[in-house]
Amino acid sequence: MAEQTLLFHDDAMLAHDNGPGHPECADRLRVIRLAVDQGGFEHVRWVAPSAAANEEILVAHTAEHVEMLAGLEGMRSLLDVDTVVSPGSHEAARLAAGAALDAVAALMTGEAANAFAFVRPPGHHACADRAMGFCLFNNIAIAAADAVRRHGCRRVLVIDWDVHHGNGTQDILYERPDVLFISTHQRPLYPDTGAVGEIGAGAGRGYTVNLPLPPGQTDADYLALFRRIVVPIAHSYEPELVLVSAGFDAHARDPLADMRLSAEGFAALLAEVRDIAERHAKGRLALILEGGYDLRSLAHSVNACVAGLAPPRIQPDGSAQMDLSAAHEDLARSHAAHWPCLLP
Ligand SMILES: [Zn+2]
Repeated sequence: MAEQTLLFHDDAMLAHDNGPGHPECADRLRVIRLAVDQGGFEHVRWVAPSAAANEEILVAHTAEHVEMLAGLEGMRSLLDVDTVVSPGSHEAARLAAGAALDAVAALMTGEAANAFAFVRPPGHHACADRAMGFCLFNNIAIAAADAVRRHGCRRVLVIDWDVHHGNGTQDILYERPDVLFISTHQRPLYPDTGAVGEIGAGAGRGYTVNLPLPPGQTDADYLALFRRIVVPIAHSYEPELVLVSAGFDAHARDPLADMRLSAEGFAALLAEVRDIAERHAKGRLALILEGGYDLRSLAHSVNACVAGLAPPRIQPDGSAQMDLSAAHEDLARSHAAHWPCLLP
């Protein structure tokens, strides 16, 4: 029988050092490891990832970008105002991408029912040709592209619930119909992309779905949005694999944003996503860690999601803000030209 849930982690990813006071710190993975171990889950197994090879990374990045990061091996360098390379970063970044690749491979071969890759540096801001926003390689875009190329997936769904827009993932996948990218994010907020009108281009037109949200959204607000827009589009698309850019910085206690999700709220979103995977993708679902900068909330939220990868599932609490249904209808109308399933 396949292992239920594989958890990817390697201590070498702790060596990526952004410097003192930086929110994207090694303790993020340390508290996750501790919390999951203390959770005493019987359905999980820890696995060390392999480092991604150049040719695997090149499905999402330019050769110049890959060579630039390789050239900084063992050095310390500032790539933008808050994106750092330290000795150990290159290896960590290759392991982070490798963990996402290994998670997909484990699902496609039936080794695992689902998976969670605990990685740093995170990935969803990394564009094809540059690092930014704490991200060096775009782990989830590499994994999604690899699922198509190596594993023959015809339709991959990428859901990004990190509070920031996954601009790098969008950048890399923008013209592809075989990867559907759906992002919920606070706007305005870094990196200030992800407007509702950014819907993909060329053959990929319609296969980028941005759901920008004002600050203050609760568990119930997010859940209502998922049920009104994300789930119907996903069912219409019929994905063969579901990947989640699982950032936890929409948590109420996160220092970098202003949303009001709880750990249980993330688990409720995961339950929706898991239903999509079970209905269309033989349950094949992998979460790839992105942001989440309040250590305690991060650990709680991750644990709630690990629990949610095995039944019974956690149900959400709280009530929706009553004035949001009109906002959700506006978003649904904006996307209805490409997704008629959203019409009332
Ligand atoms: Zn984020």
